[in-house]
Amino acid sequence: MWKSLRSQISLYIMTIVLAVVAFVSFLANAAVNRQFEEYMINQERGQREKIVNDLENLYNGMTRSWDLEYIHAIGMYSLYDGYVLTIYDSAGKVIWDAASHDMALCKQIMSDITERMSQRNKNGFTTYSYNLMQGDRKVGTASIQAYGPYFLKENEFQFINDLSEVLLLIGLLSCAVSIFAGTILAHKIARPITKTAEIAQQISNGDYNIRLENETNTRELNMLLSSMNHMANSLSRQEQYRKQLTADVAHELRTPLAALRSHLEAMSEGLWEPTAERLNGCVEEVKRLSSLVVDLDGLAKLEQENFRLKKIEANLLEIVENVCGNFEKEADNKNISILVDGVSSNILVDRDRIIQVITNLLSNAIKYTPEGGKINVWIKDDIDRGVVMIEDNGIGISQKDLPYIFERFYRTDQSRNRKTGGAGIGLTIARSIVEAHKGKITVESNEGGSKFTVVLPKREEE
Ligand code: ADP
Repeated sequence: MWKSLRSQISLYIMTIVLAVVAFVSFLANAAVNRQFEEYMINQERGQREKIVNDLENLYNGMTRSWDLEYIHAIGMYSLYDGYVLTIYDSAGKVIWDAASHDMALCKQIMSDITERMSQRNKNGFTTYSYNLMQGDRKVGTASIQAYGPYFLKENEFQFINDLSEVLLLIGLLSCAVSIFAGTILAHKIARPITKTAEIAQQISNGDYNIRLENETNTRELNMLLSSMNHMANSLSRQEQYRKQLTADVAHELRTPLAALRSHLEAMSEGLWEPTAERLNGCVEEVKRLSSLVVDLDGLAKLEQENFRLKKIEANLLEIVENVCGNFEKEADNKNISILVDGVSSNILVDRDRIIQVITNLLSNAIKYTPEGGKINVWIKDDIDRGVVMIEDNGIGISQKDLPYIFERFYRTDQSRNRKTGGAGIGLTIARSIVEAHKGKITVESNEGGSKFTVVLPKREEE
């Protein structure tokens, strides 16, 4: 059976507190009892010695006689205190005997003490013999019968009983406090964890709009809460991205697929002559769709949360020259000149990804520059960054389109009207890659052409 965290913690705390209270009480009790018994035994011995001492003072050495009146008084006092005396003279003759004075009282006192003490120890009355001395001379003997090794008088016994009651009360109070403290503490510890568990459940149910409690004063819990917050945000972003992407892709595919379908249907139903030109148009459309799928795949990889760059030391100038070399033929076909200028700039980048950025920018420049145009590429080497600028004198981008051209599937009206336009993903991919490098990509444009600038930090900033 699963128990709640709170009840488990309170149970642990209560058990520990109770065990500690019980252990400490046991130890304290044992120690106090031992000390108490030792003290009582000493007291007891002292009391008997005091009686003997008092008796010795009652012998008159001059008259060689005992003061019988005082002996009687001491004997009776002692009897009331629980000591049964028998006093002998030096010849062994009984001078005073408690039993013969008041047998009934003796029995009564002895049975009272025996009954009282039977709860504490099972010893009985013991007889102690003392020589009564005056200087070096033995003047008699005293036999003292007392409950051994110690006994408690009525008021002492009452005191001990009261003390036990107080201790019991303290014990019960500690139990109550431990239950109370256990519950409060368990509540305090378990509450943020329970809250976190609830939030995790909320997230797993797809509800990312979580309201996290104010910071707790536990470092680990704060870490847990902030990671959960982060997780919820990133899941929410992913979810939104997924929805948006699905909607965008559906929107992008709908029109060309519908056109393709109506063309193919018209040809298959014999309404249209399947001329090479029409078939070629269809093939072009299919090619465009295929490249869109490839671009989308690349973009999806880039926009994954765990996307990692494989950085190596690379020369920006060399990368740009290579890419420009790849476009030589394409540029020649449109009679476009590409001029590369600048200095070497060594930076730490994911080489393949940066090649992709330059390729996308250069391909756009060629695409959107009419025949006979000019493309200039500069490479700058700053202390902490490398910069590439690609400028063309093509159709340019209108001011109203400029803020959006890096967005997915965004194409300007001019490029939509032209057959050359792609799917509107190239710049989105370029921006994702540059931003993953903690760099920046910007654009300036007017009717005279466009200029894209890519700034890449040389080293990763920690
Ligand atoms: P596409 O595949 O359509 O070229 P991009 O994301 O690369 O998609 O570019 C988005 C849009 O930005 C293009 O459709 C085009 O309208 C505009 N554009 C990009 N580069 C240039 C450029 N060098 N000159 C003019 N317009 C450009």
